[in-house]
Amino acid sequence: MVVVMQEGVSEEKIQHVIDRLVSFGFDVHRSTGASHTVLGAIGVHPEFDTRDIELLDGVREVMRITQPYKLASRAFRSEGSVIDIGPGVRFGGPEIVVAAGPCAVESSDQIFRIAEGVFRLGARILRAGAFKPRTSPYSFQGLGEAGLKLLREAADRFGLLVVSEVMDPSQVEMIQSYVDLMQVGARNMQNYHLLRALGEVRKPVLLKRGMSATIEEWLLSAEYIMSGGNYNVILCERGIRTFETSTRNTLDIAAIPAIKKLSHLPIIADPSHGTGRRDRVAPMARAAVAAGADGLLIEVHHDPEHALSDGAQSLYLEQFGQLMTELRIIAPAVGRRMA
Ligand code: PEP
Ligand code: MN
Repeated sequence: MVVVMQEGVSEEKIQHVIDRLVSFGFDVHRSTGASHTVLGAIGVHPEFDTRDIELLDGVREVMRITQPYKLASRAFRSEGSVIDIGPGVRFGGPEIVVAAGPCAVESSDQIFRIAEGVFRLGARILRAGAFKPRTSPYSFQGLGEAGLKLLREAADRFGLLVVSEVMDPSQVEMIQSYVDLMQVGARNMQNYHLLRALGEVRKPVLLKRGMSATIEEWLLSAEYIMSGGNYNVILCERGIRTFETSTRNTLDIAAIPAIKKLSHLPIIADPSHGTGRRDRVAPMARAAVAAGADGLLIEVHHDPEHALSDGAQSLYLEQFGQLMTELRIIAPAVGRRMA
């Protein structure tokens, strides 16, 4: 249930409403917007009568929400969330933020070259995995903490921020000391222990859509993180499994406007995993921005033919540069600008 308070209502009245909600057994989360205070009341109390709250002084509106997620729903913060991940880099505002880099950190030379390239071409965030969730246990698994150190050094050299994947609750503390944004991969979208652990910290989380997850399941995973108190969640559409085999996954572009309607959380798109082929990445990146995405996550490699993972879907630096040029034209057409 969401309780919208009247504009400019006193702190005392807000507190009274919170106390009443708590006395009914609700867990209350408060959001103070520019004009209104909104209270999210979490808990299932089927016998509860909304009029008991509606009639309290200072209450403008009480909405029972049928969606099973509350904190992630648009009603909780109707103006939309803007999530700051570091100096001058915000998701959900007027700017479209691009995170680019290789699938995985492979070596110092590799990550520094790619960092220089993507920085020069306009990315604000360096992406790369150090702990890789590979389908086969015999595939390259990433460099681990040594990879995170290289990633951080390369990003710092060029003033970029860092996003990298966390796979297990035991890694949260260590990884958050190296990155600005913690990625939950598609395979872990329903790893509830991991989601709970990320709810305990305040570091922003990039939550990828599971490859067979519905939008509702995805938002419930965001709710796991948010119910722990970490509201800094950014969603990432990365393609779902369908009957189609001509692309690695089916990038669900329609999920972007759907999420915008259902949730206040920013959403970005990953056209690299979403298509699995470098020749399809740029068209889908352009489409995602046109559809309202707040950013992009793109695999770029200085030498994709020799990449240790996902080379076929990694753009050459020149291709990435061309795409950025095109995005600078598309963004203003939909009322945005490139960060
Ligand atoms: C990745 O971003 O490198 C990755 C492993 O993505 P996903 O979890 O979407 O497969
Ligand atoms: Mn990859």
